[in-house]
Amino acid sequence: MTLNLKTFPQQDENLETKGPYKVLILGGGPTGLSAALYAARAELHPLVLTGLQIGGQVAITYTVENYPGFPNGVGGPELVELFQKQAERFGAVLEFDTAVEADFSRHPFRVKGYNAIYEAETVIIATGATPRKLEVPGETEFTGRGVSYCGTCDGWFFKGKDVIVVGGGDSALEEGDFLTRYANTVTVVHRREELRAGVLLQKRAHDNPKMNFVFDTAISDIRGNGEVQSVELQNLKSGAANTQDIDGVFIFIGHTPNTEIFQGQIDMDEGGYLKINHLMETNIPGVFAAGEAADPHFRQVVTSAGMGAAAAIQANRWLQERGG
Ligand code: NAP
Repeated sequence: MTLNLKTFPQQDENLETKGPYKVLILGGGPTGLSAALYAARAELHPLVLTGLQIGGQVAITYTVENYPGFPNGVGGPELVELFQKQAERFGAVLEFDTAVEADFSRHPFRVKGYNAIYEAETVIIATGATPRKLEVPGETEFTGRGVSYCGTCDGWFFKGKDVIVVGGGDSALEEGDFLTRYANTVTVVHRREELRAGVLLQKRAHDNPKMNFVFDTAISDIRGNGEVQSVELQNLKSGAANTQDIDGVFIFIGHTPNTEIFQGQIDMDEGGYLKINHLMETNIPGVFAAGEAADPHFRQVVTSAGMGAAAAIQANRWLQERGG
């Protein structure tokens, strides 16, 4: 999910104020929906601002094979629907709105969306992360015209074509493997000689006859005429450059946390990940954070869901301690 909070129009004073809610959850991915389930079961009547895509990154994942309870895997959109139904069954309310500003200097806290201003006694930040960009010439120009950040979404358009996958992590190999359902060849271009991905995914990729690897190499330019036609590859050891004809470039080089709107209020590390303790507490009492907005390490659906549940449990305790 590409979420650029700054590109949206900033509506202002005419917005209706809603709340105060006991628990306001920012983000409708596995973290936010798990937090919603736990907060709803504690009868805290949580409101979830879903952001642009209910389910976040999982909603655009073809199959999730490592979420416990699904021995044969489960489709990403199906898992999201199940999360949503379960949270709603206990009274969570989902609002299709995106947080664009937050004010944690006052209590109840105030969060501004496009549709309303929301007041809340506690806030759980579950805004997730967005795919990182290569930032080379041609990338922006050809996004949606050969450059993609989602194999599951766009793979179908590359039937019988040759594509490059950039990155050496789990995402690159998993999505690369998925893309071989459609593409003629998938070339993984990685900046080092050693892959970061887990052994199982590495083995699967090496065993896939449609996949091949170019190591110690970066893309320095993406070229085309209306759509991608070639890339310039640069060997990072020798410096040698060559042009390769290609139909598509899929980029899986990590993520940036969606935490921009909390800058100056919530402590974060140099990568923009929110700093939390083991109780999911931020530096502001009553504001909790969970999932990929606060977790550069695990970043799994199951760990994010677990963090979301923990944040809701803590929000409940925090309210109880204050006599709520
Ligand atoms: P990641 O593990 O951070 O890997 C990013 C890859 O992109 C690395 O190989 C990195 O190279 C490369 N890279 C970073 N910046 C780059 C740049 N500017 N130019 C070129 N290459 C660049 O990210 P991820 O693969 O998205 O995985 C994120 C997390 O999700 C991980 O914890 C992963 O285990 C998890 N995940 C798990 C599964 C699964 O279990 N099935 C599937 C997907 C993701 P270096 O190696 O040189 O740093």
